[in-house]
Amino acid sequence: MINEKNKALGIHPSVIRNLYEYANKRKKEIGEDKVFDYSLGNPSSKTPKEVNDILISLINDEENVHSYTSSNGLEETRIAVKEYLEKTYHTTLNADYIFITSGAAPALSIAANALTIRDNHDEAIVFAPHFPDYRVFCENAGASLVTVQPDPKTFLPDFNDFEKKINEHTKFVIYNSPLNPTGVVYKEDTILRLTSILKKKELEYNHPIYLISDEPYRELIYDDIKYPFITNYYDNSIVCYSFSKCLSLPGERIGYLVVNPKCYDAASLFYAIRGAAWSLGYICAPSLFQRMIPLTLGLTSDLNYYRINRDLLYQNLIKIGYDVIYPDGAFYIFVKALEPDAIQFSETAKKFELILVPSDSFDYPGYVRLAYCVKKEVIEASIKAFKQLFDYYKDK
Ligand code: PLP
Repeated sequence: MINEKNKALGIHPSVIRNLYEYANKRKKEIGEDKVFDYSLGNPSSKTPKEVNDILISLINDEENVHSYTSSNGLEETRIAVKEYLEKTYHTTLNADYIFITSGAAPALSIAANALTIRDNHDEAIVFAPHFPDYRVFCENAGASLVTVQPDPKTFLPDFNDFEKKINEHTKFVIYNSPLNPTGVVYKEDTILRLTSILKKKELEYNHPIYLISDEPYRELIYDDIKYPFITNYYDNSIVCYSFSKCLSLPGERIGYLVVNPKCYDAASLFYAIRGAAWSLGYICAPSLFQRMIPLTLGLTSDLNYYRINRDLLYQNLIKIGYDVIYPDGAFYIFVKALEPDAIQFSETAKKFELILVPSDSFDYPGYVRLAYCVKKEVIEASIKAFKQLFDYYKDK
């Protein structure tokens, strides 16, 4: 016998990956420039030249760049991350409570496993529409996933629903801002509301309810919004970060996890983080990229590239007549499907060579997600297809 749950996960790869594979197949059939692939959040803004130069000089000039590091990550890297975050967000951290990870996905999985007690009816709350992997990570750790509905006008959390969903089994809450799949950013008033509910519920149930901030898109904010860094608002908080998107390095697998030193019994929590990382096989993140971090903190790829794409796509979709959520950040745009069944709508869009992800993948019906981290030329060429798709439904 084998693990049937994992077998099922392996048999049904994510809808996003399936669409990406379909787009690649279709490009081979009819030509690269004829397919408008909005499926995958694979950054196309170039990795900054400084980053590549630093990597090359590390390889050429330094010794042992490919060696194992300590499980938590190099001390100088953890100290650099602490100092950078403290300076940027006016917060207080502790390098001993920072764990360097192979991206945000392992950080999330480590956190879920560190917090969840198996067979204890632990629950994890997420806000729909949400990154699909939260379900995989939380359920694999042994927690049940509880989904909070959004306010359908703003796509911010429905706080009445949030309050109702918290109970004595709630172990942790995950939020993501800027948000995949809507591009919505949680401003300070949203964070204050969210954390005040959690503080009240912690008192009511007399145990910590941890708040995990998943922030791989933290720097990808295009309007004038101050990013509310969670350690300044809520003691029992954990940050999961990644360099995948801001430096266009998703294949290199590098990020970090920060435990707020003000967390209840932070030392024990950090031991649980280390233990979870060990048991999952996630210790010692890529050594070369750990060494890159202190030399590149604060750098980003060209964010204007995404801002231009956002404006181009948003304005054209609105002009055609689509109902679109205005995205302040990340590189996703959420568009109302032109029929109630978003899966069917995504199928119909394929007739016009538009590859759009149905929102059912994000635990929410009726929309499609477009990843606009593509070349501007792809967006320009796709506008005609969006118009044809719109007219197709109008004439139906
Ligand atoms: N969280 C969100 C919301 C994401 O969109 C992604 C990747 O797309 C991740 C986490 C995982 O990022 P990483 O590449 O760092 O594992």
